[in-house]
Amino acid sequence: MNDQINRRNFLHNISLAAAAAALSPNMSHADPTSLEQDRFDAVIIGGSFAGLSAAMSLGRARRKVLVLDSGRPCNHMVKAAHNLIMHDGAPPQQMRADAQEQLVAYPTITSVSATATRIEGADGSFTVHSSVGTHATRKILLSTGVRDLPLPIRGFTECWGISVLHCPFCHGYEVLNQPLAVLADGALGLEFARTIRNWSRDLTLLTNGPTTLEPEQQKELVDRGIRIEQRAIAEFVHHNGQVSHVAFKGNAAIAMSALFARPPFALPEELLSSLSCTLSESGHIHVDHMQRTSVAGVFAAGDVSSPIRSLAFAIAAGNLAGGSITQSLVSQWQ
Ligand SMILES: Cc1cc2nc3c(=O)[nH]c(=O)nc-3n(C[C@H](O)[C@H](O)[C@H](O)COP(=O)(O)OP(=O)(O)OC[C@H]3O[C@@H](n4cnc5c(N)ncnc54)[C@H](O)[C@@H]3O)c2cc1C
Repeated sequence: MNDQINRRNFLHNISLAAAAAALSPNMSHADPTSLEQDRFDAVIIGGSFAGLSAAMSLGRARRKVLVLDSGRPCNHMVKAAHNLIMHDGAPPQQMRADAQEQLVAYPTITSVSATATRIEGADGSFTVHSSVGTHATRKILLSTGVRDLPLPIRGFTECWGISVLHCPFCHGYEVLNQPLAVLADGALGLEFARTIRNWSRDLTLLTNGPTTLEPEQQKELVDRGIRIEQRAIAEFVHHNGQVSHVAFKGNAAIAMSALFARPPFALPEELLSSLSCTLSESGHIHVDHMQRTSVAGVFAAGDVSSPIRSLAFAIAAGNLAGGSITQSLVSQWQ
């Protein structure tokens, strides 16, 4: 077992034994003032765009922070992220690594590869249980993102994030004017098709069965050259995740460069089971304008608390959450 704490990699690859050691008050990289405390100011659950952004705010405020990350961000399969000014086209993995590198400058931040499983306690004295131990903390930030649930169509999982895309602003420009499809029906299908037509006029709405669109809604689409395909889908034919055809039951197929889809998602139910955070209408953790959840001392940021999925939003929300947690601590003279 590796017992080295690799600061340059932001302590991300440390083993379980090293992780336990990293939580010891004798930790060499900890801020001396924080060593007097017997608990963390904040435990950040999820160390990706939102969580790392929050960690920077908190680290710069000299707060003793533990980042727990299980290493499975939602865009892990993406080679190039877009629509983030100054980083357009950059690999998200590289951006996360750069963030970790920058956080090394702040000695009160500790990050470990670990999965948080349970939260107990109340504002000022929470206990977070994780795969590397139990951690006492005053505040908690939930920045776990969401888990996208694959649609039960052969090829969907393999193509997700590569040629089955969630967001035209992130990946639409790369498939400009190519044969595209929207996989949706009803109000979402109508709205989504309207949106994607901005990127390509060679567009098919795949309803995967008889459509629920009203005849006038169908006419609205057809009049604008959008094909409506109601046959049940058998498979996305692909090579290494790059779709080439959508095959229907009964052997027919149409050629395709990319599809847009909005699969359902799951929150980290296990963690939330002990917290009773209020959810928003969209099914995310409800937060106020300062990223506070309905549970005192628990904050949330990024995809887990926002239907707007973008790196820019996640970074901004994390940054705000870090400031908000600091504000909450100082208001309690902590
Ligand atoms: C396929 C795809 C492509 C995308 N492309 C773009 C793009 O090009 N441009 C753009 O702006 N946006 C893009 N997005 C959106 C963007 O990736 C997200 O908005 C952003 O990653 C959200 O950041 P986050 O930190 O909230 O969550 P995530 O990045 O999903 O990270 C959450 C982290 O929390 C960890 N975690 C979860 N549960 C636990 C737990 N219990 N304990 C410890 N750690 C845990 C996970 O392992 C993960 O590392 C894309 C999204 C997807 C799905």
